[in-house]
Amino acid sequence: MQLNAIQADITTLEVDVIVNAANQSLLGGGGVDGAIHRAAGRELLAACRQLGGCATGEAKLTQGFALPARYVVHAVGPVWHGGNRGEAENLANCYRRAIALAESVEAHSIAFPSISTGVYRFPIEQAAEIAVSTVKASLEAGSSIKEVTFCCFSADDLAVYQALL
Ligand code: ADP
Repeated sequence: MQLNAIQADITTLEVDVIVNAANQSLLGGGGVDGAIHRAAGRELLAACRQLGGCATGEAKLTQGFALPARYVVHAVGPVWHGGNRGEAENLANCYRRAIALAESVEAHSIAFPSISTGVYRFPIEQAAEIAVSTVKASLEAGSSIKEVTFCCFSADDLAVYQALL
């Protein structure tokens, strides 16, 4: 089992599954969501329309279409409201659900963006700690997943993840 942190555009990664930090509509947005929809092409939006949205803390799976990744897990992270509205548990659930969906398609490799830490304002140090600990705890012996990449967009975020790994 390998856990890595890198600085990259997640849409360029040649992995089995990339995770999207989506919103409840699953119909695209800004940030990493917009980048994934642009790179995957309009077929991704059509596939997402069939899914009927997604609750916070949950996730849904589509194909990757024009992306190098075979699949996209669309996870809906919590908006940060100060930390007393279940934000940590909802964020952890995103990572758990994403791992479970990736295992359901026998994925060997998965890459995560730093869910909720952009427009949704979840503090990066706390979010990264939840990301790393939840992923480690979710990957049991016998999991199809052998490689997990935490794909950071900024050098500052990368430093936070590297300190934890
Ligand atoms: P959220 O609404 O969940 O906060 P954002 O997309 O605003 O989602 O931000 C989540 C994280 O994704 C942020 O750290 C942001 O810098 C990062 N990000 C934005 N574009 C990309 C990309 N192309 N690849 C990887 N990470 C990205």
